[in-house]
Amino acid sequence: MSLTVMKFGGSSVGTTERMGRVAQRIVEKKLQGDRVVVVVSAMGDTTDDLIDKAREINGNPPAREMDMLLTTGEQISVALLSMAIHKLGHGAKSYTGWQAGIVTEATHGKAKISDISPERIFAALDEGNVVIVAGFQGMTEGGEITTLGRGGSDTTAVALAAALKADVCEIYTDVDGIYSTDPRVVKCARKLDEISYDEMLELAHLGAAVLHPRAVEYAKHYNVNLVVRSSFTNNAGTLVREEAQMEQGIVVRGIAADKNVARISVLGVEDVPGVLAKMFGALAEQGIDVDIIVQSGVQDGKADFSFTVSLADRSKALDVLTGIKTEVPYREATFEEGLVKVSIVGAGMVSNPGVAAQMFEAISSVGVSIKMVSTSEIKVSCVIAAEPVQEVIRALHTAYGLDTADTAFVGGPSERR
Ligand code: ADP
Ligand code: ASP
Ligand code: MG
Repeated sequence: MSLTVMKFGGSSVGTTERMGRVAQRIVEKKLQGDRVVVVVSAMGDTTDDLIDKAREINGNPPAREMDMLLTTGEQISVALLSMAIHKLGHGAKSYTGWQAGIVTEATHGKAKISDISPERIFAALDEGNVVIVAGFQGMTEGGEITTLGRGGSDTTAVALAAALKADVCEIYTDVDGIYSTDPRVVKCARKLDEISYDEMLELAHLGAAVLHPRAVEYAKHYNVNLVVRSSFTNNAGTLVREEAQMEQGIVVRGIAADKNVARISVLGVEDVPGVLAKMFGALAEQGIDVDIIVQSGVQDGKADFSFTVSLADRSKALDVLTGIKTEVPYREATFEEGLVKVSIVGAGMVSNPGVAAQMFEAISSVGVSIKMVSTSEIKVSCVIAAEPVQEVIRALHTAYGLDTADTAFVGGPSERR
């Protein structure tokens, strides 16, 4: 008997009516003879609404209490979904993340899963139940409730699939697969039959919201069969796997954009050995992730540095720089927002010179200048002004031969905010 993990995102269970349709779909899977474990997100905009409420009460709510609050969204979903399955005459049991044995590290708001004890899930499956687990949550060894970061229900699903040795992990969402770029932005985006773990990992890290980056990390590490498909249609989805076949003549698999970037510039830094280590060491100590780092030329023994951080870390990073000014003297630190990081990703890039030049050409063709660049074997990222990013993505999509006329995007509702 095969074991399937099915994960349904927020818009797939946005209303009680949709919850009913999801229940139907789960029962169909069960009737095929599969053992089914379901992971579900909070309904519709519930998580955003809870965040707004918290902020109305306290502009800077304690992270521990935020986790206490946000985990309730998923708990509502699991209970209602279980009731909907019971209504269809089938056994189902809902569990919070901690009841399902999900243990996490102790970082509120972006905890990593450290262990899963699946005994209780197996026991409920053995009784013939559909098991429904609340996504995006777990508990520390010390009994504190945690969340896994926005979009983290994907990670719950893949981590459970790995721990349960499931045959497949299906991520049901409001688009019918992974596309060459967000199909809500580029109408002629092409649906991918398959994509490699590495490429999807880059795309997810670089802003493609369709999968949580850590979910892809787990899938790669544990070799989980991962499929992204629609909860509204029966179309075949996209398979994420170790090696994906690249269409002939195509070197770029996908394009992603991330608006969550701020650029910080540190000007007139004393150019002596060790300054970079001190500066970035101090930022790392405060848990600030630094992304692209650029050093411009040295003049009169002074250098200028720029680096990017997430918008949320911008003020903290500037505080750190102020704090180390006596140790690492510099003239001034400035920041810039209203930026976007646009990236192209494709395993075929390694053996195709000129891919980056083509990117710069496409970006300049829409009159946009590039502020920062970073590359790896399978991606090139450019930081540019946030407007007009959609034109830039469209230009890149065309330049790399990704436009398609025949795959009309089939998606569910896009009433997310
Ligand atoms: P869920 O609530 O089901 O987790 P998400 O909003 O997290 O759904 O992810 C699905 C959304 O991801 C789609 O509606 C789409 O707009 C967006 N998206 C971004 N990049 C891509 C891509 N390359 N392929 C498909 N969808 C993408
Ligand atoms: N409900 C959470 C969020 O909105 C987790 C998820 O949907 O995956 O981020
Ligand atoms: Mg999601």
